[in-house]
Amino acid sequence: MSSEKTGQILNAFCIDLEEWFHVCEASTPYDDPKTWDSAASHVVKDTEVILRLLDEAKAHATFLTVGWVAERHPELIRRLSNAGHEVGSHTHFHRLVYTLTPEEFAQDLKRSLEVLRQVSGQAVVSFRAPGFSMKRECFWAYPILRENGITVDVSVVPAPRDHGGIDGFSRDPILLHTDAGALTVFPLSILSALGRRVPFSGGGYLRLFSMPIIKYGFRQNHRAGRPVMTYIHPREIDPQQPRLDLPRMKGFKYYVNIATTEEKLRTLLKTYRFGTVTDTLAGVQSLPDYQLVDGDIVPMGARVPPGADRLAQRAI
Ligand SMILES: [Zn+2]
Repeated sequence: MSSEKTGQILNAFCIDLEEWFHVCEASTPYDDPKTWDSAASHVVKDTEVILRLLDEAKAHATFLTVGWVAERHPELIRRLSNAGHEVGSHTHFHRLVYTLTPEEFAQDLKRSLEVLRQVSGQAVVSFRAPGFSMKRECFWAYPILRENGITVDVSVVPAPRDHGGIDGFSRDPILLHTDAGALTVFPLSILSALGRRVPFSGGGYLRLFSMPIIKYGFRQNHRAGRPVMTYIHPREIDPQQPRLDLPRMKGFKYYVNIATTEEKLRTLLKTYRFGTVTDTLAGVQSLPDYQLVDGDIVPMGARVPPGADRLAQRAI
């Protein structure tokens, strides 16, 4: 570790481990999982690049893995697990949470956890919804996650966003109490500027923004004593991936600066301390308590209407 990193706050590094054709909310020739085996697979070679970058920086990360990918490439999951990285779930078929019924969501989650736990040999306790698709309307997913052994969710973007995004949500990790038990919700990092909340530390935002903007975001969060969460998809460092015919704006966000992402990640990994989601949360002093009340997440101890506990149970 370089001396400038010593004493720095630990930040979470996440990889959403999926294929280049796992797109959310856009019609492609790969909408149906039955077509996925017909597509060229890039996930192993792309992930190997990321593993090398992490190795260079002596950093560990959390790989939020699509169960279908783990079924196809169990050796990749075993390798990264043996290298000390954390394996989490990114569902089995990469479908947006709010397009599913609670029963469909539970079934898909269980299938992913079964394969991920078996292949990785890990407990698998972290989860990210595809496309950060956790919205108020699908908070019913939290007790289901907890019932299935998930204790950390990294699906919330506390800012407005295409699919998902909960404007006004806590920027700090919280402990969410549900009838099935408590789980930590660790929201994606955002920066606040000109009265607006903007993600900056992952995916298309990370590729689009210049390093001074990204560093400003890190500084703003670190000053508040808050770790930053960075995320990347294997395809985002792969200029050779097949191109999908996406709507203009979506295509721009999907492919902007792909050729320079590897170098940007190398710089980030040199500049800041990164670890798994679990290790990062271990360094967080205290988590404010929240609960599900009538389908919404509210601080515990805040004014709640009479009978709120009963309502919360009904909402679950
Ligand atoms: Zn995804």
